[in-house]
Amino acid sequence: MSETADIVVIGGGIIGSSVAYYLAKLLGISTRIVICDRGPIAGATSASCMGHLMVTPDNAQEYALTKTSVDLWRGLHEDLGGFDYNPTGALYLAETDEDQEMIPVLHKQFADNGDQADVLDQKQVREIEPGLADDIPGALFYSGDGVVLPMLAAGAMLRGAQARNPNVIVRANCAVKGIERDGDGISAVVTEHSVIATKTVVNACGIWTPDIGDMLGQSRIPIYPRAGNLAITGHHVSPIRTQLLEISYLRFAHATSGVDPTKTDADSGGHAVNMQPQTNGGCLIGSTRQFRGRNKEVNRDLLRRSLQRAQRYVPGIAQAPIVRTWVGLRPYSIDNHPLIGPWDPVPGFWIAAGHEGLGISMAPVTGLLIAQQIAGMTPSVNVAPYLPARFVS
Ligand SMILES: Cc1cc2nc3c(=O)[nH]c(=O)nc-3n(C[C@H](O)[C@H](O)[C@H](O)COP(=O)(O)OP(=O)(O)OC[C@H]3O[C@@H](n4cnc5c(N)ncnc54)[C@H](O)[C@@H]3O)c2cc1C
Repeated sequence: MSETADIVVIGGGIIGSSVAYYLAKLLGISTRIVICDRGPIAGATSASCMGHLMVTPDNAQEYALTKTSVDLWRGLHEDLGGFDYNPTGALYLAETDEDQEMIPVLHKQFADNGDQADVLDQKQVREIEPGLADDIPGALFYSGDGVVLPMLAAGAMLRGAQARNPNVIVRANCAVKGIERDGDGISAVVTEHSVIATKTVVNACGIWTPDIGDMLGQSRIPIYPRAGNLAITGHHVSPIRTQLLEISYLRFAHATSGVDPTKTDADSGGHAVNMQPQTNGGCLIGSTRQFRGRNKEVNRDLLRRSLQRAQRYVPGIAQAPIVRTWVGLRPYSIDNHPLIGPWDPVPGFWIAAGHEGLGISMAPVTGLLIAQQIAGMTPSVNVAPYLPARFVS
């Protein structure tokens, strides 16, 4: 079978779904957009993660990207709904003196961006989150964060895209096998079911983004899987109502120095606890980080350490039965920043990938920025630091 499309989005995770949504929103309804996933929609990393919508204030650029995106999530909840959006805020918990020293630093980072977070003492922490141990010395509360259920959100975005534009076609179980060229550019996407003539392709394949790049004979796109072990309790037993993180999570998750994605031995992993209330009354507990290729076997030792940390902060979690454990693979780009924009050597080839542990947070802004660039509009956020051109050799 052969057909045509103005744009083919490869990958139906949270990022591809958001790209499709904003393309449908910004381009005319005659624009034919096909989104293909080789499996179910949002069946890969976006089904194996947590749903913390996190504003990161580390610097003005990161803040602009994450804050814009988390604000867009609020708008999507109002416009689309149906994905368990919960504006819980986030508590950054301190335990040690070193942790305590991070609280004013993080507080200042929010303030430097014109935002506000609250420094809490031992008593105030438990007023916000009664489920916490009574010896937590302090915390920072940021009210702007929230939680969503990513699989539901991807579905809502695609339904929203189709409601705006009947020419949005969603194809699950439709693997892309190749990309045909026309000179420097693209002429077609070859799927397992059809050949789709098109000049514009968005590669939103998460950890498989480099494999799609390889189809074009380009230098390998530097995205590596970074495994995370998760556990979830049964429903209606969560002792918490706020998104919780050890404040040391920031050092652990966002640092790039000393990170070598090609080092995959068992000792290279680490953990910092992150606990997330679910609207069904469950509690999702993570989160570890380890490079070990595409291996999705649960690392019991790392997960056990996360669960011990969870009990240290929230003793009541020990009574909540764990009903499932699993591993998700974060798409880690070599400089720990996403790729959002054109791949210049191949006109018409775009990349939206490499969001590591912030892909749910950053999905709306990523979709918006890709759609704005394709539409020839001025991007809402400075996209220069995220252009894939930085990896073109
Ligand atoms: C343990 C863990 C916890 C996390 N917690 C958070 C969090 O709290 N907050 C946050 O913001 N982020 C979090 N993340 C990160 C977030 O989950 C990811 O950044 C995000 O899901 C990546 O989405 P994606 O669409 O790029 O990738 P994916 O969801 O993996 O989607 C890529 C899609 O491409 C498809 N594909 C691949 N090859 C082909 C092909 N040849 N043809 C067609 N389709 C193809 C795949 O089937 C897949 O569905 C977490 C991740 C993990 C692992």
